[in-house]
Amino acid sequence: HADTAMYHAKSCGRDNCQFYSAALTQRAQQRLTLENNLRQALERGEFDLVYQPQIDVASGRIRSVEALIRWNHPAGGVIAPQDFIPLAEENGLIVPIGEWALRTAATDAARWQDGGRVCVAVNLSPVQLRAADLVPTLVDILRETGLAPGLLELEVTEGALMEEREATHATLEALLAGGVQLALDDFGTGYSSLGYLKRVPLSNLKIDQSFVHGLPHDRENLAIVRTILALAKNLGFRTTAEGVETAEQATTLAGIGCDALQGFYFSRPLPAGAIPALLQRRWRLDETDPGGG
Ligand code: C2E
Ligand code: MG
Ligand code: MG
Ligand code: MG
Repeated sequence: HADTAMYHAKSCGRDNCQFYSAALTQRAQQRLTLENNLRQALERGEFDLVYQPQIDVASGRIRSVEALIRWNHPAGGVIAPQDFIPLAEENGLIVPIGEWALRTAATDAARWQDGGRVCVAVNLSPVQLRAADLVPTLVDILRETGLAPGLLELEVTEGALMEEREATHATLEALLAGGVQLALDDFGTGYSSLGYLKRVPLSNLKIDQSFVHGLPHDRENLAIVRTILALAKNLGFRTTAEGVETAEQATTLAGIGCDALQGFYFSRPLPAGAIPALLQRRWRLDETDPGGG
């Protein structure tokens, strides 16, 4: 921003300069306010998790639920993760916020186990993966909540796995040795080589929703999804398609061998209290109305 301001200072007239600097000040001010509010949000209990089912194609039942964070801002309504997670990653607040999400999701998931075996998937920022105490924190959380490690799945993105840091690999290995599962989120959207796929024992590869849109008519997306499924199968990873919104997408994905499906077609993300009832439910992928199942 400093560069932009300088550029304008040289090239524009006096009035314009005042305009730009006022706009910059306002943006900086808003950002500072957001940052201060974010700092207080944890203490004030303004975060919430909602959970979205991932449906196992073979059984039609929920295999796992993904925890998705929401911020109930006192003045701004519900704020979506993409509007505050990047800031929290920059200023390090993602570490305590992420720990809160892990503890809350594990507590909820431990409670659900009488209804049937269900995994909980929690998104993990690369910043959390780099933090020195992630492993002991998770060990504490699993002990406190009594959740079996195998029922916790951590979702990371390609970028996090690409980092050639010894410490990151050691952290991942310790987590996996403890039985925690690892999912690769938004697969296909990162700028990455495939080499890391052979080093990291993934339990689940999640196909990004941008490839699911337009199925089955979008021939390029169909080809990409088929290829990802073949790659995952050959490497022994389970697969989940994200962003499934229509019956056609669901049946197409089931037909070409995707193991699990997630998206608004099956369920929007829901409050924790709604999950136990859903664990009894069975979806039929060949019927037009999933509400009947
Ligand atoms: P993600 O992990 O890829 O999560 C999937 C996103 O797609 C969620 O958005 C979900 O609500 C949305 N979605 C699910 N089904 C559909 C569908 O059928 N159609 C469409 N258009 N969208 C669908 P959400 O909840 O806004 O989360 C956005 C991203 O924020 C997540 O992407 C994840 O990267 C991040 N995030 C969410 N919760 C956390 C968290 O606790 N910690 C961290 N570090 N990141 C989080
Ligand atoms: Mg995710
Ligand atoms: Mg995703
Ligand atoms: Mg995403």
